[in-house]
Amino acid sequence: MGSISKELTFGTDNHHLHDKRIGTKEHILSDSRVLKRDYHHRVFVNRSLSMEKIKCFGFDMDYTLAMYRSPDYEELGFELLLDRLVCIGYPHQTLEYKYDPTFPARGLVFDCHRGTLLKVDSNGNVLVCTHGFRFLKGSEIWDIYPNKFIQRDDTKRFHVLNTLFNLSETYLYACLVDFFNNCSRYVNCDTGYRHGNLFMSFQSIFQDVRDAMDYVHDSGCLKEKTLKNLDKYVVKDARIPLLLSRMRDVGKVFLATNSDYTYTDAIMTYLFDVGCGICKNSDSSQKLWRSYFDLIVVDTRKPLFFAEGTVLRQVDTNTGKLRIGTYTGPHQHCAVYSGGSSDIVCELLAVKGKDILYMGDHIFGDILKSKKRQGWRTFLVVPELVKELSIWTERSELFDELKRLDIILAESYQHMDSGSNEHPNIKAIQKQIQKATHEMDMCYGKMGSLFRCGSRQTLFSSQLIRYADLYAASFINLLYYPLSYSFQALPVLMAHESTVDHISMDGPDCNKMLGQQLQHLNLYGKKRLKQLMEEASEEDEDN
Ligand SMILES: [Mg+2]
Repeated sequence: MGSISKELTFGTDNHHLHDKRIGTKEHILSDSRVLKRDYHHRVFVNRSLSMEKIKCFGFDMDYTLAMYRSPDYEELGFELLLDRLVCIGYPHQTLEYKYDPTFPARGLVFDCHRGTLLKVDSNGNVLVCTHGFRFLKGSEIWDIYPNKFIQRDDTKRFHVLNTLFNLSETYLYACLVDFFNNCSRYVNCDTGYRHGNLFMSFQSIFQDVRDAMDYVHDSGCLKEKTLKNLDKYVVKDARIPLLLSRMRDVGKVFLATNSDYTYTDAIMTYLFDVGCGICKNSDSSQKLWRSYFDLIVVDTRKPLFFAEGTVLRQVDTNTGKLRIGTYTGPHQHCAVYSGGSSDIVCELLAVKGKDILYMGDHIFGDILKSKKRQGWRTFLVVPELVKELSIWTERSELFDELKRLDIILAESYQHMDSGSNEHPNIKAIQKQIQKATHEMDMCYGKMGSLFRCGSRQTLFSSQLIRYADLYAASFINLLYYPLSYSFQALPVLMAHESTVDHISMDGPDCNKMLGQQLQHLNLYGKKRLKQLMEEASEEDEDN
């Protein structure tokens, strides 16, 4: 086996767990960290999942199996969108904007009424707000959004930019608002721009960009440019066929993509044409990509696919055309289908929802819907984790600083109660917290981290925690775990549990604390505690 298999053995030897130090909190923590894989290879767990129970592995294609190179791919999307807007009448000068990958973040909200881009938490509280490239101050945000809050349910007004495909669109909203804000021909109004007797609302700009998005995706121009330069836009990874063949050894594998067959075939042929010696079978590199799957469904129209779905048709793999009529026959290996629904997938593969681990990058279309509607087990691909984790590890002092400031703030009130008339001056600390939050945010990009703003979590974070059982920078990280692995979620502590300590048997105050406890316990308790104290002191001497 190759180097990947060797790495798999890292950390699986747990004999040292049986040494006598087990039982102390610190040692358990350090031991469990020694067992973890390199963080670049790690799969993170929100809900425990036993891989032994998984009988079927499902995949999305775009940004999951096929990882598009960032920022080249977003830059291409941005240029095509701008070209389209100029074609329908937008000013030529807008073509001067170039894609800036440091500005957009996934999960931002565009306000079609006011033209702002918002970063919000799970309740709709505004964390960051920009108009064009200008970041609004707190007082300006309060003026537009009373209580610094938005009604996210108002989907006509607030549009969440959920996917990686939306990054170029997000940046485009900022560019267009910036352009019209600064163009002397247009008069700035609260809900858009006036030019003579024309009024261009933010709502109409939103609609034009949405139509341009549909055009770029449906006309085939983005696909055509991608296929012409696959090396530039798509990451080829020899580990993909290796992992899929291992998955097929233990279960069924299917593909469910919104892309059409012709594009899927071209991308998958490129991805599986690895031609290297990494695969288990020497002829693996020669295998047709379709042979790695038990079922292939294209044109799935997710999220509709996870509800009523559409008509299931068979694809003629020679011509790429759909056969007329609904397919009603048994499942044929290597056959390709179009449309259908998640229920049909379960039926054709003879599996139940809970047997399936579905991997995708779309928090709504892939993960939320498959979990809520069908009870599938879910794995969210979050490519941003590569950068997020690097900053988290390399700039940890910034988060420590935030924690330190929080403690100082709490200490200002420590000896006060409802009878206190003092008003500690906390302005300086609050300013320092703002400064540290801003400094931390800027490490990630102009809109900050995908997951948080200072110590507050974003809408994206809350959806990820709620709907993704597992998540990682890439599904390929599953290669570094046995396919019988039991992913265990860390216990999620409630506020009262995480802030009130258990009685500790370690530390310098151990004896004093135990002494205090003795006064409140019965005779049996006294004897038992004395025994524990003796054991604790013996252990200290040993160390
Ligand atoms: Mg996708």
